[in-house]
Amino acid sequence: MTDALTTTWTQDDQQRQNTYLQRVIERIQAKTARQASSLAIFDLDGTLFDNRPRTAYILRQIADQFESELPQLVKAIDSNALQDLDIIKYGPMATLDGMGVTDPREREIISEQWAKRFFTDDYQHFDVPLPGAKNFVSQVYEAGATVIYLTGRDVNMLVGLTETLRMCGFPVGVVGTMTMTKKDFDQDDGIFKENVAAYLDRIGEVVAIFENEPANSNLLQKIFPGAVSMFLLTQHRQDAPQLADGIVKIRDFRIRG
Ligand SMILES: [Mg+2]
Repeated sequence: MTDALTTTWTQDDQQRQNTYLQRVIERIQAKTARQASSLAIFDLDGTLFDNRPRTAYILRQIADQFESELPQLVKAIDSNALQDLDIIKYGPMATLDGMGVTDPREREIISEQWAKRFFTDDYQHFDVPLPGAKNFVSQVYEAGATVIYLTGRDVNMLVGLTETLRMCGFPVGVVGTMTMTKKDFDQDDGIFKENVAAYLDRIGEVVAIFENEPANSNLLQKIFPGAVSMFLLTQHRQDAPQLADGIVKIRDFRIRG
């Protein structure tokens, strides 16, 4: 798994991030001035939000609730394993590997309890926006684009994700915004995003795409070749394909020197 939050970031990388983020705003402003529509697509997990604090909270809660059954997890937490968020990887199993939780029975309990909590309304408010995310999305919105939150979370998580977006100051639930979730948990992420893309193509011009899954990023770039396509260097699936050429890697949403 790529855990690019820890990779080096040069001045040139930052300049490229500044340039492309700025370009998105300018393109939207130009289209708005011509009374033309523009759509900007933002994924949530690993794109606008760092969801590792959600898992950290959940693991602590599980350890507390099932203390006698989970000695390895309790020991890891007692040794401050969760103090550094980098220990939290994509998916609970990779995280437990890093925490030294190897017992199969413990892993089974934790995995089941984690999934029961992670994919619900109740824990999304532990997510933390990426640096600059709220400001950048607000700028995109104010420039006149329709802000589209396109997430692999399913509709059962709609209330919690809306609450979190609102709590963090993102434009949501108002004119000029849309939220699109999967109709059920088991719907394939790629097919879902492909179907949505076909719909978006009918309602306006997609000018910018922000994603952290290479497969989704490649798919959306292929469907909307005219859009600025940005890839967040956060975390993604282990079995991800190579990122296609022309997709710009960014670390967060800050435009700075
Ligand atoms: Mg994502």
